Amino acid sequence: LVSRQHHPDRSTVWVRGVPVGPDSFTFMAGPCAVESPQQTLEAVEMAKAAGATIMRGGAYKPRTSPYAFQGLGEKGLEILAAVREATGLPVVTEVVDARDVPVVAQYADMLQIGTRNAANFGLLQAVGEAGKPVLLKRGMTATIEEWLMAAEYIAQRGNLDIVLCERGIRTFEPSTRNTLDISAVPVVQATSHLPVIVDPSHASGRKDLVVPLSRAAIAVGADGVIVDVHPDPETALCDGPQALLGAELRALAQAVRQLPPAL
Ligand code: PEP
Repeated sequence: LVSRQHHPDRSTVWVRGVPVGPDSFTFMAGPCAVESPQQTLEAVEMAKAAGATIMRGGAYKPRTSPYAFQGLGEKGLEILAAVREATGLPVVTEVVDARDVPVVAQYADMLQIGTRNAANFGLLQAVGEAGKPVLLKRGMTATIEEWLMAAEYIAQRGNLDIVLCERGIRTFEPSTRNTLDISAVPVVQATSHLPVIVDPSHASGRKDLVVPLSRAAIAVGADGVIVDVHPDPETALCDGPQALLGAELRALAQAVRQLPPAL
């Protein structure tokens, strides 16, 4: 269902009126985790000022350590809805458990499946039935074929509003958290009709690499980027070292504005 054999033209997915697809470049940004109403509003206002048209923010955080901040849960979803009201930006937020799909779908405009759950087939089926667009991250050890099959689990439940997100894969290279597989973007675009965006923040874990990797995403023809921003990265409860602020955010905004027209 997700292959170009089934659907030769590349698709556009609409997220509360905002397109993600071949005719636009979509800039999504916001905090890694929702920590408080003020932190979320400040982060999203920074993102919007830089040109973002969809906000991100995790209320349910899939942390490697069970002792790390796990997110505010439904309280976080309420904060996201209030910030949407204040800024007008649609919300993409992660769902980590099939039991939470109804509550997350009640607040979110797009449901995110993170890298750790990209092979959680019950969860993929549940979001396929939720009636909302889905942002499907690539599993960090998934081949492109396995990633597309994960999308197929969602599509098979009647939901073709899927945006794929390349967010790095695990390799032997330790200087970045994961290795951004930039070649995956054109490979997937040749095989699948679904839009493909890039997450340079979670791929690298390093704010100094977010702008260069975003430029790479733009150059290779990605349909958008999703990046972390935080008003005070030093105090962030989650992934502060990759969050943009000030000069880097302005550089990213400039790179997006200077986007060459699509081929
Ligand atoms: C996220 O986007 O908040 C996240 C945890 O990303 P990933 O699943 O790619 O690690």
